[in-house]
Amino acid sequence: MEQFQHYIDGAFSDGEGRFPSIDPATGAPWAEMPEAREADVDRAVEAAHKALYEGAWAKTTATQRGKLLYRLADLVAANAQKLAELETRDTGKIIRETSAQIAYVADYYRYYAGIADKIEGSYLPIDKPDMDVWLRREPVGVVAMVVPWNSQLFLSAVKIGPALAAGCTMVVKASEDGPAPLLEFARLIDEAGFPAGVVNILTGFGSSCGAALARHPKVAHIAFTGGPETARHIVRNSAENLASTSLELGGKSPFIVYADADLESAANAQVAGIFAATGQSCVAGSRLLVERSIKDQFVGLLKAKAEAIRIGGPLDMATEVGPLATSRQRDHVTALVERSVAAGARLVTGGKALSGDGFYYLPTIIDCDGVASPSLAEEFFGPVLSVVSFEDEAEAVRIANDTPFGLASGVFTQNLTRAHRMIKSIRAGVVWVNTYRAVSPIAPFGGYGLSGHGREGGMAAALDFTRTKTVWLRTS
Ligand code: NAD
Repeated sequence: MEQFQHYIDGAFSDGEGRFPSIDPATGAPWAEMPEAREADVDRAVEAAHKALYEGAWAKTTATQRGKLLYRLADLVAANAQKLAELETRDTGKIIRETSAQIAYVADYYRYYAGIADKIEGSYLPIDKPDMDVWLRREPVGVVAMVVPWNSQLFLSAVKIGPALAAGCTMVVKASEDGPAPLLEFARLIDEAGFPAGVVNILTGFGSSCGAALARHPKVAHIAFTGGPETARHIVRNSAENLASTSLELGGKSPFIVYADADLESAANAQVAGIFAATGQSCVAGSRLLVERSIKDQFVGLLKAKAEAIRIGGPLDMATEVGPLATSRQRDHVTALVERSVAAGARLVTGGKALSGDGFYYLPTIIDCDGVASPSLAEEFFGPVLSVVSFEDEAEAVRIANDTPFGLASGVFTQNLTRAHRMIKSIRAGVVWVNTYRAVSPIAPFGGYGLSGHGREGGMAAALDFTRTKTVWLRTS
C-alpha cells in the first residue's frame, strides 16, 4: 500500500496514528495515511507561528512572496497529471474533472502571485499638522484551513493562495476522506522553496485533529469549507481563541428554466450542474424550477441525457459519472431518496445504488411537484435532481428563496429584463444567467445564510487575510 506523510515545519513526518484510505471505485484500502492528533497539530501551529514572527518569512518581501507563488503555480502545472490521478484515486472524482480542475488550481496560484505586491496600506489625512497617520496592512496571523474531501486541491488553493499573498503562515487540514492529493501537494510547497513552517499540511479526523486546530490559542483566523453542522462546531471552538472565521458551506441551489430559454443548452447545463462530481459539489444545481408549460418536455430531455451518461471507473477518460467518495455518502443518498419517495416524490429515472464493488449511485431525477419532499430541503451531496414547476416569475422567486441556504443559482431565459429582475431577487452569493458553474480567480465566490460568510477569489480574499495597524507619528 502507498504511504503518505505530513508536512510540518519544512519536513515530512509520520502522524501520531495511521489510517487506511479507501478507493471509492473498489471499496478496498489502497493507501495508508498519517493521522494527526493534538500533539501534531500543536507542532504545526507552533511552526507556523515561529515562521511568521521569528523566521525567514518575517523578512520575506511581498515581491519575493509573489515569486514563490509563481514558482508554485508552475510546479502545480508541471505535476498536474500526478495530482489529478491521486485525487481521482483517493476520492473517486473522475479523471476528466480532476484534470480540468488542476489547471484552474495553477491559475489561482498565478493570480495570487500577482496580487502579493499589490496589497497596499493608506495615508490618512488627519486634521493635525504635526501628525502623520497611516495604515499598514499586516498578515492576520497563523491561519487554520480546514477543507472537505471534494476538490481538496482547489478548495485549499483559494485559501493558501491569498493567505500567502497576504504574508500569513498556515496549517492546512486535509479531509480524512481522500487526503492524498493535498499531502502530495506539500512536496511542491517544499520544492518551490517556501521557508520551513510557512505552509504545514496534515490530515486527521474532524473531532480530534480539526477541533484541536480550530481552538488552538495561536490560530488567528480559520478558513473553513464544509457542512453547516461542522461550521457550528468550529465556531464554538473558536470561542476559545476568538479567531475570526470565513465559512464556505453547503447549498441547495435553484436552477430556474423559463419556457423562452434555449432548452437544449439549459438541459446540458443542468445535467453538468447536478451530475458533475457525482453531485458532490457545493454549487450543485440540485433544485430544478421549470416553467409549468415546458415541464414535461424539459424533464423528458433531461431524462434522456441522464440515462445516456457513461458510468464507470474514475480513472477512465471516457467515464462521465464515477462513484461517490465514501460508502457513508452512498448510504446517505440512498436513504434521502427513499425518504423522498416515501413522502410522495416520483422517480423519473435512477433511484438506486449499483450493486457490486465501489460506491456507485445512478444519476437520479425525482419529480417533487406538490410534495413536501425532504430532497428539496436537505443537501444531498449526490447525483440527485429534484424537480418542481412554477407558473410565473413571482412563484419562481418564492421557491428559489425558500431555503436557508444561498450559495449559487442559475437562471435560463432569453428575456433580458426578467433576467435582471431575477438577479436582484434571488438571495444567493452567485447568480449564473444562461450558464452554470463558471468560476475565475478574479470573481469572488461565497454564500448567503446557511451557505456561510466570507468570499474566496478576487483581491478582497487576500485583504481578508490581513488586518490594519494604525500608525501615529509626531512630526514636530
Ligand atoms: P464536513 O463538514 O463533514 O468536513 C469538512 C472538514 O471539516 C473535514 O476536513 C473534516 O475532517 C473537518 N471537521 C469535521 N468535524 C470537525 C470539527 N469538529 N472541527 C474541525 N474540523 C472538523 O464536510 P464534508 O462532508 O467533508 O464536505 C461536504 C460539505 O462541504 C457539503 O456541505 C458541501 O456543500 C460543503 N462544501 C462547500 C463548498 C463551498 O465552497 N461553499 C465547497 C465544497 C464543499
